[in-house]
Amino acid sequence: MGSASLAVKSPNSSNYFTRGGVPSVNVNRLCSFSSQSALFGSKIPTKKLSLSVNGTTPTRPQPIRHSGSEPVKASSRSFDVVIVGAGIIGLTIARQFLTGSDLSVAVIDKAVPCSGATGAGQGYIWMVHKNPASDTWELTKRSHQMWKILAETIRDQGMDPLQVLGWKKTGSLLVGTTSEDSVMLRKKVSQLSEAGLRAEYLSSDELHSKEPAINVGTDGGAAFAPDDCQLDAHRAVSYIEKVNRSFAPKGRYAEFYHEPVTGLVRSTRSGEYEAVQTSNNTLYGKAIVVAAGCWSRSLMHDLFKDSNVELDALVMPRKGHLLVIENYNPLQLNHGSMEVGYVDYQNAVFSSGLSNQSQTLSVSMTATIDTMGNLVLGSSRQFAGFSTEVDDSIVLHIWKRAGEFFPKLKELALTDFIKNRKVRVGLRPYMPDGKPVIGPVPGLSNLFLATGHEGGGLSMALGTAEMVVDMVLGNPTCVDNSPFAANGRCC
Ligand SMILES: Cc1cc2nc3c(=O)[nH]c(=O)nc-3n(C[C@H](O)[C@H](O)[C@H](O)COP(=O)(O)OP(=O)(O)OC[C@H]3O[C@@H](n4cnc5c(N)ncnc54)[C@H](O)[C@@H]3O)c2cc1C
Repeated sequence: MGSASLAVKSPNSSNYFTRGGVPSVNVNRLCSFSSQSALFGSKIPTKKLSLSVNGTTPTRPQPIRHSGSEPVKASSRSFDVVIVGAGIIGLTIARQFLTGSDLSVAVIDKAVPCSGATGAGQGYIWMVHKNPASDTWELTKRSHQMWKILAETIRDQGMDPLQVLGWKKTGSLLVGTTSEDSVMLRKKVSQLSEAGLRAEYLSSDELHSKEPAINVGTDGGAAFAPDDCQLDAHRAVSYIEKVNRSFAPKGRYAEFYHEPVTGLVRSTRSGEYEAVQTSNNTLYGKAIVVAAGCWSRSLMHDLFKDSNVELDALVMPRKGHLLVIENYNPLQLNHGSMEVGYVDYQNAVFSSGLSNQSQTLSVSMTATIDTMGNLVLGSSRQFAGFSTEVDDSIVLHIWKRAGEFFPKLKELALTDFIKNRKVRVGLRPYMPDGKPVIGPVPGLSNLFLATGHEGGGLSMALGTAEMVVDMVLGNPTCVDNSPFAANGRCC
């Protein structure tokens, strides 16, 4: 592995380039500011950053001690950035470092990508159900812009974003069945329009002509956002992995899958955490990013248990089921849809405190057709610990709920699909205040958290990645990062 320069790439915007036959786009500089820092920036001491990095020979001062119970592994390697977690968040952060800087990156996962929440995600890249007044609005908007640019870049490179990312501009329908829902949806449309989003209210009849399969009754209606899109999480992850791996021959990227993180190594000299201990390796990093989804809280707790660092990441698993009916032809859908109650359920417990959360189950209709022509129906939300076991009663609930909106489904029983149905279960990384944690661990300037995206991690991934990279590099962030700081939220 060769040495990696620490200088950040030129800030020229729209800097398209191809590495190892894999197109990628530097979207790092498409936001309004144009400054950059020369090295990692002020967040990390310059002295350390001036070191050149060699992937095979650690250049770190000895001796070291570590917070785990195992000895430091003989096989140790150094990178500029070590990322824990190969879900959509960890992988897109890695990609952003690789395409937007010259830094070297290691990604660690206890299993493989898509084994966490990412593999279960429905893939909605949507604004229609978002609130323009919320802290996540700008981040989501920015992230969608970046996904769209990525899809266009893939197309410009002669590939089909549908095949590569499962990318479809389906438009989104947020639907309701009652007159109260319709009032609320009209209000939502005017809020979205005021915030600059293309959105229109559809009466029951107008909805029927746009999406004939759906029935919301005479009082119902929909908020329609024509620019909303969807992707296929598995395809998107494969593509991002391919981009990341194209940097491996240059010595800038390595992945360590099936290697649970077991400890952190702390320098006795500087007191900084300078390496991540896995079951097989000690991986040094000038910056360490923990993007371990719903496991981030317990992981951080274990990593810091013998230290004086006080951190409670608060993120917890919110289980979700998704039902996939393969090659389901009778129901043709032109758009992605979601019942308006989804938004209420999503936010329901954010204000009511942790004590009421145990086993709270909600099922709201979401429906779309994926790249393969499969009908994807969602989804459930519940607090049920870390179990990912399929609950057949919830699957039936999802099927019946979908039937309330798509009468065609009522003509069939779920048991008719035993052979061609799949159930995906994932644990959304839920934060009680409804927004992710993105930023340094208080008091530790080189250890970053990026987790807690709950039901919007696919959607917010690229914006999050950009934010993390800018924070690590000491650049101004494109979107205000203060609402996502760990400080004051994770103690
Ligand atoms: C049913 C369902 C539908 C969804 N639909 C959508 C949608 O339509 N749109 C949308 O934007 N989002 C959706 N989401 C949410 C989205 O999937 C998540 O927000 C996102 O995947 C979170 O990504 P992540 O990388 O933070 O976590 P994960 O994907 O869970 O990744 C975390 C990774 O960390 C690894 N890890 C954990 N502990 C350790 C350790 N000790 N050592 C090493 N590695 C470790 C895990 O193995 C895992 O691979 C949905 C989620 C579910 C469950």
